[in-house]
Amino acid sequence: MMQSMLNQSVLVLNRHWAAVHVTNVRRALILVFGDHAKVVTDDYSTHNFESWRDLSQVSDSLRKIATPSFQIAVPEVIMLTRFSKFPPRQVKFSRRNIYTRDNYTCQYCGVIPPKDELTIDHVIPRSRGGKSTWDNVVLACMRCNMKKGDRMPGEIGLKLPTQPRKPHWLECSHFQVRPNENSLWQKFLDNAYWNVPLQE
Ligand SMILES: [Zn+2]
Repeated sequence: MMQSMLNQSVLVLNRHWAAVHVTNVRRALILVFGDHAKVVTDDYSTHNFESWRDLSQVSDSLRKIATPSFQIAVPEVIMLTRFSKFPPRQVKFSRRNIYTRDNYTCQYCGVIPPKDELTIDHVIPRSRGGKSTWDNVVLACMRCNMKKGDRMPGEIGLKLPTQPRKPHWLECSHFQVRPNENSLWQKFLDNAYWNVPLQE
């Protein structure tokens, strides 16, 4: 029980309240103990180790870990206090991340074919100067890819329902973003979504 709690994911914010990393409870508590980070609660207050330990004693709603000498609540979000130890993550432009971004789904017709029948399509074909960038590649099923060939989508009546863009690193992270709408994470992830730079 305690082990699994220590391994739970904790969202890490930089000093500008932007999500920059995901770590686990064990590492988060070490950072807070060493004064490298503060715990963030849902009223946006921040706590150093002492005040978090004090809050842990009086709160009934927080989930706690018992150490031999005291109880400490499990943080969900921490904020780095000094310069960022974790530089903002960049999403690598890789085959795997394109598949993750597009949900293994053909972006033209919406089907989810077997994985080996998915292809990476250049929206503006390379033969017409289209680049291999986040905003010019999408997953396409073989049927749509064959149909499209070296033409522009509009020329053959194909339309992309959404404009491809560079994903936020959390969308491609192997950490599970908690689906719970009320999670404290959500506040900061929504923030990240709206503030993510759209330029490469
Ligand atoms: Zn298709």
